[in-house]
Amino acid sequence: MPPGNRNNPKRAASSESQYSLVEFMREYPDDATCLETLWSKRYSPDGEHADCPKCETVRPFKRYETGQQRQSWTCTACGHHLHPTAGTIFHKSSTSLHLWYYAMYLMTSTRCGISAKQLERELGVTYKTAWRIAKVIRAELMEQTDEPLDGTVEMDETFFGGKAANMHHDKRQRLGGRGTAGKQPVFGMVERKGKVVAVTVPNTSRATLMPHITERVLPTATVYTDEMSSYDPFGEVGVQP
Ligand SMILES: [Zn+2]
Repeated sequence: MPPGNRNNPKRAASSESQYSLVEFMREYPDDATCLETLWSKRYSPDGEHADCPKCETVRPFKRYETGQQRQSWTCTACGHHLHPTAGTIFHKSSTSLHLWYYAMYLMTSTRCGISAKQLERELGVTYKTAWRIAKVIRAELMEQTDEPLDGTVEMDETFFGGKAANMHHDKRQRLGGRGTAGKQPVFGMVERKGKVVAVTVPNTSRATLMPHITERVLPTATVYTDEMSSYDPFGEVGVQP
């Protein structure tokens, strides 16, 4: 077990992330691997057989090699095509699957509240593309939750210039954001592989952040914060393992 695991509710640095970039790159080295992962997760546990909707039985499938970015698999009996990306957020995108996966990795396991600007730099795409990717991942995969967070939770304060202006109007109002105020602090709490809570706050003092933490995060959670953070959530509020 790496340090800072869930049985040790001590604050740990983000750099001790249990799923490192090296591990991510090893598991998903390229576009083809990402596509194969989708194929086996969605249709074909063994990678070779799948339930053919046309034959209405399990058939061997073959990779249909084309020059297209989004390749499909073909039923060897009837020729029916299955597209691993169909119905997913990746389907109509011109951004490579690998970049999508990398964006998901960055948003879910490294840091919460990653800005579109950071994504733009990391992915090497335009700001517009980065912003759209972040928005889709947040909306579809990391939906804001009202339930308390548990497990491994990462916390981070980020200052977003103009972030509030990009938000949906109703959401902006709900979060009390002030779009013209320049840099708006956003305090993010992200459960590893799951729920996310992001709130705009007037400042990032302990007094401001603590109520959000105690309200939204279960004391059993392992909390990861930035090394520079000025808070030590559970140590200070007296919650013991
Ligand atoms: Zn078939």
